[in-house]
Amino acid sequence: MNGRVGCAFVLYVDNIEMDSYMFNLSDNCSVFMAEVYAIYKAVDEIRTRNLDCVDIISDSRSALMALNSLRERRNFINEIKRKVIAHQGTINFKWVRSHRGTVGNERADVLAKSACEKEIVDAFFGTTKAEIKYESKRQALSLWQERWTLSRKGTITKKFFSKVSLKRVNGDFYINQVYTGHGIFRTYQNRFFDKSIECQCGEAVGDAEHVLLRCKLWEPDRESLRLKSNLPLLELLRVEKFRQFCRFVIQSLLNLEIN
Ligand SMILES: [Zn+2]
Repeated sequence: MNGRVGCAFVLYVDNIEMDSYMFNLSDNCSVFMAEVYAIYKAVDEIRTRNLDCVDIISDSRSALMALNSLRERRNFINEIKRKVIAHQGTINFKWVRSHRGTVGNERADVLAKSACEKEIVDAFFGTTKAEIKYESKRQALSLWQERWTLSRKGTITKKFFSKVSLKRVNGDFYINQVYTGHGIFRTYQNRFFDKSIECQCGEAVGDAEHVLLRCKLWEPDRESLRLKSNLPLLELLRVEKFRQFCRFVIQSLLNLEIN
């Protein structure tokens, strides 16, 4: 087995087989592209023979759907469409269920399989734009993940987001202070502005977790939210009323520090 993909089509006139064609395709050709390639070659043959009224019967629903779609952007598919339109006669596309013993379909299937055994490759397929895009995105993400994991920076942010992602984090001036630990929290103020690390309540270190989840100064406001207790900060930050509470607490702390 060389893992290659083959495709084929058979030309019938009045139910009599007139000719058959089979193609051995390069390794990176997808099954979908093989189906499309057979249709492409069949259309070429119809035009060369100048056939008047022809049905192209395929068992590939996806290929037929692509040919029928008005929003198709793949060049190769649109080239087939252009050729069909440019043809003088009529070309109809029809779908047939595969492996149901339909004569032409079974015959093309057998030919496609034996096409893979040909020494010569009939058509080479380059890597598609989509494949290149997907691969470079995958590589960039994996590099980014490695850097993020090994970095000594952003230890607090890492607790919230250990995995990198292209999804946008829904933050703002206040919520970002929780995600990063930067800003008004005493742990940060202590590190950079030489202030006390103790929370205003005087009972613990003033980090985001203490202030938002446990500090007694905000207990009445926190209780009025009636949130399920014991949820981690990450999950609470998905709840809008908790985010409102965070904004309120941080704004109050800002006012306290300024005055
Ligand atoms: Zn406190």
